[in-house]
Amino acid sequence: MANRDYYDVLGVSRNASEDEIKKAFRRMARKYHPDANPGDDQAEEKFKELNAAYEVLSDPNKRAQYDQFGTQGPGQNFGQADFGGFGGFGDIFDMFFGGGGPGGRPGPERGPDLRSDVTIDLEDVMTGVDREIRVVRDEVCPRCHGNEAEPGTRIETCTRCHGRGQVEYLRDSLLGRVRQIETCPQCRGAGKTVSTPCRECRGRGQIRAEKRLTITIPPGIEDGTRLRVPGEGGAGQRGGSPGDLMVLVHVKSHAKFRRQGQDLVMDLGIGFAQAVLGAEVEVEGIGARETIHIPPGTQPSTVFRVPRLGFPRLGSPSIRGDLHVRITIQVPTQLSSKERELMRQWAESRHEPVLTEDRSILRKVKDAFGR
Ligand SMILES: [Zn+2]
Ligand SMILES: [Zn+2]
Repeated sequence: MANRDYYDVLGVSRNASEDEIKKAFRRMARKYHPDANPGDDQAEEKFKELNAAYEVLSDPNKRAQYDQFGTQGPGQNFGQADFGGFGGFGDIFDMFFGGGGPGGRPGPERGPDLRSDVTIDLEDVMTGVDREIRVVRDEVCPRCHGNEAEPGTRIETCTRCHGRGQVEYLRDSLLGRVRQIETCPQCRGAGKTVSTPCRECRGRGQIRAEKRLTITIPPGIEDGTRLRVPGEGGAGQRGGSPGDLMVLVHVKSHAKFRRQGQDLVMDLGIGFAQAVLGAEVEVEGIGARETIHIPPGTQPSTVFRVPRLGFPRLGSPSIRGDLHVRITIQVPTQLSSKERELMRQWAESRHEPVLTEDRSILRKVKDAFGR
């Protein structure tokens, strides 16, 4: 049942408000409630599906995680690690679950996937980089190893469900006698009772812990890439495997460089005379220098390509993109009187009309007086 989109299950749009989700759930839960559909397996399936969808979409954290990652296949059980999280909806759940929490079944349950963000510089993309990140998560309690009992004390099989974690009821409803399976209310599905809860985790079997992890970010990574670190998510329930940690990698934008696929792109300002007469100019890419040949008569926006100074390809770093150097022409604003005179002679020989010295001075005076 994890395969269907939770929003489709509840018949709401992806940006539905909490209230809309709550209303849609109540409406559909009434319609498909087993009491209203005795012996109808399809309705029962549908009802379970509704519960699973509602449990995720009604919790802002789980919903955000679902929007981000979706379901990850059968191992992924959003929220079901979290018993009794159904606060305000007793009216419906008490009818069906007897208050024991939804869908809980004994047996291992995989821990939740967690997300972390890391931001790197464009330079780091060239070489790859190791980053230390901090993850706060539930870990298996080191004192009781997750079995919830204080070491040395007894753990007994639950007397009510005899270890099955579920109990069966025959129940008289308005619509006749129906058979119901519920999570055992005595052991909450664990199948056992602990006489003395573990002191460290207070019988939860898990503790909240902070861990520092070093994440190796490979060269060539794109902004927005998710790295999956297996087994570093939240601890599983009842011996289930831990979830994964998803690290979302952001790449900071750079003042000088841009990325275009595997190519590194930069602007290079050269002088007017260099563009006209040609030059050899040294450019500095990321971690490499190269001299490029500017031929006489180079126009603005001309792009020179330097092979292999671009980014390495993710997974095969020996394959690299190129460096693209886009030419801009720098127009000087401060000239000596000698340079000004040379430019005048140049303009004269090119028959380019320019402002005369007198007129440009006169204009400045006019501007100053606002006329
Ligand atoms: Zn413990
Ligand atoms: Zn029990």
